[in-house]
Amino acid sequence: MSVAKNYQEIQQHIENACNKVGRDKEDITVIAVTKYATIETAQEAVAAGVRHLGENRLEGFQEKKDALGNDVSWHFIGTLQSRKVKDLIHDIDILHSLDRKSLAKEIHKRAEETVPCFVQVNVSGEESKHGLAIDEVKPFIESLSNYDKVKVIGLMTMAPHTDDEEVLRQTFRSLRRMRDEIMDLQLPHAPCQYLSMGMSNDYQIAIEEGATHIRVGSKLVGSYQS
Ligand SMILES: *Cc1c(COP(=O)(O)O)cnc(C)c1O
Repeated sequence: MSVAKNYQEIQQHIENACNKVGRDKEDITVIAVTKYATIETAQEAVAAGVRHLGENRLEGFQEKKDALGNDVSWHFIGTLQSRKVKDLIHDIDILHSLDRKSLAKEIHKRAEETVPCFVQVNVSGEESKHGLAIDEVKPFIESLSNYDKVKVIGLMTMAPHTDDEEVLRQTFRSLRRMRDEIMDLQLPHAPCQYLSMGMSNDYQIAIEEGATHIRVGSKLVGSYQS
């Protein structure tokens, strides 16, 4: 498997999806999810042109960051325990998993600079998934106005693990509608212009439904399974 070839193929698929719905491929940010990848594979991704990397654990994060230098942006996509905030918050560029007020409070306390955050939403309501229920999103975001180190730049979700295209589309559409509602509120602390949705198996559909950030692991840098 060649990471460069995978990346080329993904870029082609992004372009196709964008063309289908009249979007500009420049508006899509590809985050290579390197949680299962070695440092060498992550380096291949960067050599191939990837500029955004996603990790979901603290273990090994610093090592990867040291090896890959500062040419890339680091996205933290995993559940973050409040007591770990101080160990991580200065090293990441964007957090994709803001899902509770206690976490926002801890970020506000520990961060020196404003942290751009996606609020994680569990659109499908599956018990196994993290994130707020869709009807909790608006009151939650409104409640963050005093934590001025936290900037809500968008909403993030993980779609159900299914090949049912209609289920995937409905999930992505619900998130997009909620994003539009939050944007309309014009809250200074929550411009909320972005949508982090779409993974290896569903990123094309996510793009057709408005994704601005896709998080691609296995189809780009491999996984334990493949
Ligand atoms: C692992 C992971 C991904 C990437 O999953 P793939 O199916 O391998 O592309 C994306 N987002 C989150 C939150 C993840 O944990």
